Amino acid sequence: MTRSVHMAEPEITGRLGRLRPSLDGAGCDALLVTNLVNVRYLTGFTGSAALLLVLADAVVLTTDGRYRDQAAEQTAAAGVDATVEVRPTLAAQHEVLASAASGIARLGLEAESVTWAQQRRFAADVFATASLVPTDGLVEDLRRVKDAGEVERMAEAARIADEALAAVIPLLGQGVTEREVALGLDYEMRRLGASGSSFETIVASGPNGAKPHARPTDRRIEPGELVVIDFGAIVDGYCSDMTRTVCIGEPADDTALRMVAVVRESQREGVAAVAPGVRAREVDDKCRAVITEAGWADAFLHGTGHGVGLEIHEAPRVGSTSEDVLAPGHVVTVEPGVYLAEHGGVRIEDTVVVTDDGCRVLTNAPKELVV
Ligand code: ZN
Ligand code: ZN
Repeated sequence: MTRSVHMAEPEITGRLGRLRPSLDGAGCDALLVTNLVNVRYLTGFTGSAALLLVLADAVVLTTDGRYRDQAAEQTAAAGVDATVEVRPTLAAQHEVLASAASGIARLGLEAESVTWAQQRRFAADVFATASLVPTDGLVEDLRRVKDAGEVERMAEAARIADEALAAVIPLLGQGVTEREVALGLDYEMRRLGASGSSFETIVASGPNGAKPHARPTDRRIEPGELVVIDFGAIVDGYCSDMTRTVCIGEPADDTALRMVAVVRESQREGVAAVAPGVRAREVDDKCRAVITEAGWADAFLHGTGHGVGLEIHEAPRVGSTSEDVLAPGHVVTVEPGVYLAEHGGVRIEDTVVVTDDGCRVLTNAPKELVV
């Protein structure tokens, strides 16, 4: 199925130029990028194996023969002037990188993605003459701010998820299981043009809903119980994330109804607080205040939200201890919830993009409880 909209391309070319000025502040002269999502972000290369050496005036991408053509094609299409070196073995790729980095005194490594084994090998053999510097979030910081092409992909992923939910909701009245609903959503998202689901789809009914990240089971969904549905689509690598809580007919108990009203209000307050210059923890505060007021502070079992982009969870973090400040182009979720063993769970989540004067909600499926 072809896409109904023409999307602007993300601007990959300028990213290396924005990364380089941060290297000196991080105490390094060059950076070895081992996180594949970051490799993709910087070069456009989507293969499953790569090492990227970012030098002051050059970029070297190594990969293996499976990606001989793809690596050259994708970096060229992205307008990135990288030297692509294809070698059959990791040892041979390391040799290429060692020689490219031979004059480097301080080589930055991505501390969150380098394994212990890699670090030992880099230090002992590959970059033995350089001092290796742990760096934290240099590329991830750039990834926070999405350009128009990135936002368009996330909006398209959100639109696909909206449509998939609308297609699957009618199933609910037909005695289906959690697993069948999850499969239906995954299928619809793929049929509508997504390359996949942005994480394992959550469909949690009745008591299962009291676990925020329950996995779908063969439990049959009954009328009157709450059903938490949390899912997202991927378009060109970019994720969406949305949760709706629904019920076949009216909820069986008044507490469930009240939980829904409280979480809705909490979520509305959170979204209303999202704006540039706002500290992410203030969004969490807004959501938490409504739930605390209702007496359920201890039943809100997680942070309010997270950044979304090439990964389903990325910076910034929307939680009570977050130091992040929202800025235009940030894409975050707002997803408060209340979880009570006897009544199940309620969570409502939207993915929103921070604009110049507030935010725009990308996930637009109706929030009506009763289906
Ligand atoms: Zn979610
Ligand atoms: Zn989420």
